[in-house]
Amino acid sequence: MADGMSELRKLLAESRRVVFFTGAGVSTESGIPDFRGPGGLWSKYRPIDFSEFMSSAEARKEYWRRKIETDKVLLTAQPNRGHRAIAKLIETGKASAVITQNIDGLHQASGIPAGKVIELHGNTTYATCLDCGERYELEPIKQAFVADGTLPECAECMGIIKPATIAFGQAMPPGPMHQAQIETVACDLFISVGSSLVVYPAAGFPALAHERGASLVIVNREPTPLDGMARLTVQGEIGSVLGDAVGVN
Ligand code: NAD
Ligand code: ZN
Repeated sequence: MADGMSELRKLLAESRRVVFFTGAGVSTESGIPDFRGPGGLWSKYRPIDFSEFMSSAEARKEYWRRKIETDKVLLTAQPNRGHRAIAKLIETGKASAVITQNIDGLHQASGIPAGKVIELHGNTTYATCLDCGERYELEPIKQAFVADGTLPECAECMGIIKPATIAFGQAMPPGPMHQAQIETVACDLFISVGSSLVVYPAAGFPALAHERGASLVIVNREPTPLDGMARLTVQGEIGSVLGDAVGVN
């Protein structure tokens, strides 16, 4: 890992345009469990996919029940050293964007302007109507649900309201997908941080960066299926790896 760190610093110093790609691992040090690691959310729940959510009121109730439970951690979490290191490189102009699979809003909370955070899987800190796109805040929805099991319905069009995340089986958001592609092909250094790199299409971006000639760096505590493509893999804890590489606390 010592070698990896000096190589990481060298790649950062030499690059002209860095893009970060982040997964659930960047937020575990903020207290949010990842999906696949030990104690991860999947060891607890089988995910409710989009077609179930749409077709069954019972599934929607279960979805909101779980959300109320997981929000206790998600909505109170604060950015950690890894988030701060990325924010610093964005601030200095070394990095142009962060493409994230996370839904927790912690990159924005670390000070990165919203326009530079590309959310591939949406955002869990608010909800939208699936028909007309109207935005809804979570608190009143949760209060009505807890009071008597009321499921939220759009005041404008009576459509189904869902947290603004992308469920399994739900279409990827075209705007962020397009923006992520532009950033990926424009960078010369692409750093994947805390992603198991098994969820597609998101994991297609590191592969695309590599194909287009960027150096691919993978920072994760365990191996990933794309390690063979990487110019450098650093296996360690994200906060200390990025914090030390960038010099932030
Ligand atoms: P993942 O859970 O599949 O993979 C996380 C990876 O990070 C694992 O390989 C794990 O070993 C590694 N890791 C965890 N903590 C680490 C640390 N401190 N240092 C180094 N490595 C660490 O997550 P994924 O690849 O992002 O894909 C899962 C999906 O789950 C994503 O689509 C995402 O939307 C969603 N999700 C998001 C959050 C969040 O927003 N914080 C949390 C859980 C899941
Ligand atoms: Zn609506």
